[in-house]
Formats: sequence, structure tokens, C-alpha cells
Amino acid sequence: MKGKVWLVGAGPGDPELLTLKAVRALSMADVVLIDDLVNPAVLEHCKNARVLPVGKRGGCRSTPQAFIQRLMLRYARQGKCVVRLKGGDPCIFGRGSEEAEWLKDRAIDAEIVNGITAGLAGATNCSIPLTLRGVARGVTLVTAHTQDDSSLNWQALAQSGTTLVVYMGVAKLDEVASSLIAAGMRSDMPVAMIESASLPEQRECRSNLAQMSQSAKAFELKSPAILVIGEVAQTAVASIAAQA
Ligand code: SAH
Repeated sequence: MKGKVWLVGAGPGDPELLTLKAVRALSMADVVLIDDLVNPAVLEHCKNARVLPVGKRGGCRSTPQAFIQRLMLRYARQGKCVVRLKGGDPCIFGRGSEEAEWLKDRAIDAEIVNGITAGLAGATNCSIPLTLRGVARGVTLVTAHTQDDSSLNWQALAQSGTTLVVYMGVAKLDEVASSLIAAGMRSDMPVAMIESASLPEQRECRSNLAQMSQSAKAFELKSPAILVIGEVAQTAVASIAAQA
């Protein structure tokens, strides 16, 4: 029997935001490799799976990427149905496509299953319409953290007229704010910082670009959190209703 690897997005945390396809993959799984941003509550959909935690968050004890890939390969070659469970969507800052390619190069069948990405979930949960008609013509997802320390094109971001959703930004609030202000974004641009989006402990801190770092300190903002930067970040539910 040939094994298969499902690279599954577990969504932002709320187990009810899992897709039906993710539930089906979990119910078929022999082995589940679970990342640390995944809510373990989703494992209730497993029937007989062996669960292996393979988290690798910055700063914490980590499972090397190469080891995780070898684990997937080994189990798939044993004919097992492997689910690699990732937070949010596997292809949004999640290496899903790289892992799928790596497996396909080794003749292993790999399928990616969408998940709801944290940035979209967080904004919607806080009633922030990322692409509000007449206010934001689009949304740009960026990461504040790169492995090669390459920098973002802040100028382009500041001038894009799109809402910015920043992942992995909690440790980089000063840099994000000063770079965008230096690139011409107004310093009172509204910002929403959303921690633990979609989970019962979700918290939301509203501020503006110039003050966001200070506000986050006072709020004791913790990772995981996303930043929403743009006019829509001050949108209240009432004003959405008024536009409708
Ligand atoms: N693939 C994931 C992103 C992984 S990168 C996705 O699509 O959501 C990890 C970053 O995602 C975190 O640093 C944080 O910025 C964001 N994140 C993940 N889960 C989150 C949550 N529940 N609430 C807020 N931000 C979250």
C-alpha cells in the first residue's frame, strides 16, 4: 500500500474553523505531526492516529525542519497516511508548498489542504473588514521576520493603499512603525493588534502607527499576534452597517 502525506491547515485556533477536508484527513490519519500553533482540540477528529508534536517556534526547543521531513517520508514509505498539521493555512508563511515539493521529488503523494489563515481570521473576528469598499482596495500579507534579514519594500507597502496584515511582528513593532512612517505612511494610521485570534483568550489592542509599540507594551501583547495596519483598523461594526 502506498502512503500519502496530507499537509493540512488547522486554521487559527478555533477548532470549529477547521475545513471538512481537514476533518476527513484527520479521521484517516495513521500518524499526525502537529505544529505548536495548532490547537490540540482538533485531534478529536482522529480515530487511531499516533500524534507526534513537532513544534519549532522561534526561541523555544525546536524540531529541525529536516527531521520533520524525514519523519513524513519514513511513515509515508511504510504505507501510512500521514497528516502534517500546521497552524492557519499551510501556504501562508508555512512552508506547505516546499514540503509538498520535497515529498513529490521523493515520489510521495502529497496534498495540501487549505486552512483559514490567522490574519484573515483575526481581522474578521474583530469585525475589521480588511477590504472595506471605498476604504481599502486590497490587503497585503507580510512577515516582519525573515531568515536572511532581507528587508521589506516599505515604500511600496506604505504607498499601496492596501490594508497591511503583518505576521510575526510582535518583536518588531518599533521597526515596522518607524519603517512605515519613514516611507511616508501617516503616523496616526490606525492599527489593530490581535493576539490569539479565534481562541477564547483572544485579545485586541487598538492604537496607531506612531504609538503601537508603546500601546503593545502597556497591553503586554504576546505572540502569536497579527497586526492590521490601515484605515479599516478603526472600523467599528456600526460604520460597516452604515455602509451596507
Ligand atoms: N501558517 C500560519 C502562519 C504561521 S507564521 C497562518 O496561516 O496563520 C506564525 C505567525 O502567525 C505568528 O507569529 C502570528 O503572527 C500568526 N498567528 C498564528 N496563529 C495566530 C493566532 N491564533 N492569532 C494571532 N496570530 C496568529
